[in-house]
Amino acid sequence: MAGFRRVANSQKCVRAGGHHNDLEDVGRDLSHHTFFEMLGNWAFGGEYFKEEACSMAWELLTQVYGIPEERLWVSYFDGDPKAGLDPDLETRDVWLSLGVPASHVLSFGPQENFWEMGDTGPCGPCTEIHYDLADGVGAPQLVELWNLVFMQHNREADGSLHPLPQRHVDTGMGLERLVAVLQGKHSTYDTDLFSPLLSAIHQGCRAPPYLGRVGVADEGRTDTAYRVVADHIRTLSICIADGVFPGMSGAPLVLRRILRRAVRFSTEILKAPPGFLGSLVPVVVETLGDAYPELRRNSAQIANLVSEDEAAFLASLQRGRRIIDRTLRSLGPSDMFPGEWGT
Ligand code: ATP
Ligand code: MG
Repeated sequence: MAGFRRVANSQKCVRAGGHHNDLEDVGRDLSHHTFFEMLGNWAFGGEYFKEEACSMAWELLTQVYGIPEERLWVSYFDGDPKAGLDPDLETRDVWLSLGVPASHVLSFGPQENFWEMGDTGPCGPCTEIHYDLADGVGAPQLVELWNLVFMQHNREADGSLHPLPQRHVDTGMGLERLVAVLQGKHSTYDTDLFSPLLSAIHQGCRAPPYLGRVGVADEGRTDTAYRVVADHIRTLSICIADGVFPGMSGAPLVLRRILRRAVRFSTEILKAPPGFLGSLVPVVVETLGDAYPELRRNSAQIANLVSEDEAAFLASLQRGRRIIDRTLRSLGPSDMFPGEWGT
């Protein structure tokens, strides 16, 4: 692939650890997942840069997908004097020349509009395209749809920035968010990608129906639990199909945390019967198996592994509860609960 100059791709992304960690947010909102599919286009070695990247993105969203221009907002990097970085006025001007009204062109500092993959490595200013869920009524309610990154610098281990010998474009658009926009939904969980999972959870747990509530409106956290379980079983299935199993350190440990989070939300809130998580694997295969045949090939192994790990975790939870109950019974009214292990 060394000779490729223009590339379009779709990548599996898991953001549950490291620099981009969304694990604790998943379930709480209507747009973040631990596993999602990121659509991207790339230009290597300056094959194209800001002007062409922005105009191709604008054309795809407004002409090909037919998203109304007035629902879109963009942002650009307004510089970082401390790091000696100027505002990215070139990108601002590209958006204005494409006809985006100045009121929909916003600028932000390095937190929002300077993209870094990790603590070191290629990085640069970015420009984001957001979609307004509010339909012009009331305050805009923006969700980020697409991020176009202009790789111009390298972050060194000592924190300093050096210009890259060649410039590149690296963009990412979340498929689930795009599908939500195209299907006229306010939430990625209301799209074809997730609704079969939500129905299967409803049936399998005999839980109250999913109502899409968030925050304090989500009494008893039922809808949060639906989202956590639907999200996490996708991530577990995708990772196991790729040969990452729940385990003790590194990526396997992250996967184990995901499994345990799914088990706790499903059993404690949705009152799922034992073995429930594994029973969702065929639904994941149904929704993602055409794109990722490795899911179909390994579906029995994935379901078995999820069920075994779920059973093992439920057993240790039960053991822990028994120890706590026994200890509580042995305490007098003014005793403090002992912190030492094994007492
Ligand atoms: P956000 O601010 O919404 O967390 P981000 O700035 O972390 O997004 P990028 O790192 O720029 O996002 O990723 C590129 C695109 O991938 C985003 O524009 C969005 O469409 C999608 N995306 C990012 N994180 C997630 C996630 N956790 N779940 C689903 N889609 C995501
Ligand atoms: Mg994020």
